[in-house]
Amino acid sequence: MYPESFQKLITQFNSLPGIGPKMAERLVLFLFKQNKEKINDFIDALHNLHDIKLCDTCFNISQNNLCTICSNTSRDTSKLCIVEESLNIMPIERSRAFDGLYHVLGGTIKKRSSEKITTNQLLKRIGGGNFKEIIIATNFTTEGDMTAMYLKQELVPYNITISRIVRGLATGSDIEYADDMTIRSSITNRGDFS
Ligand SMILES: [Zn+2]
Repeated sequence: MYPESFQKLITQFNSLPGIGPKMAERLVLFLFKQNKEKINDFIDALHNLHDIKLCDTCFNISQNNLCTICSNTSRDTSKLCIVEESLNIMPIERSRAFDGLYHVLGGTIKKRSSEKITTNQLLKRIGGGNFKEIIIATNFTTEGDMTAMYLKQELVPYNITISRIVRGLATGSDIEYADDMTIRSSITNRGDFS
């Protein structure tokens, strides 16, 4: 048996996505061997998570009520890119292929229920906004495809150009893991979809 505090930390790591019990043990042992300064940095970084919130407008993770993208006046406010998670924004930003605004859904449509994702806020935003083009950048998974189709249908009444980024040549299905070149070409070659 491990000491109680050691075991408690293992349980915490094990509760994270993709971390099994053996990996959790290894991580805790690794941390245990670090010096006090390193441990304190780790604790501070975790503690500072309390200061992070969701942007009031686009639901991106943010330090303030408005995220750095929404508060940047040089962005093209006629274009809106819809992504599943905040993690999808960074690779698109890195590719420099898009200079508009974003909307983070917070997930995908599951079993035709959209209650938990921010689609209502999205439609309200589009209704009250000045968007000329909506780019759907959900992942190329069954749920991502389903979500893209759902959004396309919901957006018909708004009479705005709707496109979807195209599937990259040699990528996995998640935008999060695609390289800059692939993302750039999938945004540049965006188009209608069905
Ligand atoms: Zn924002």
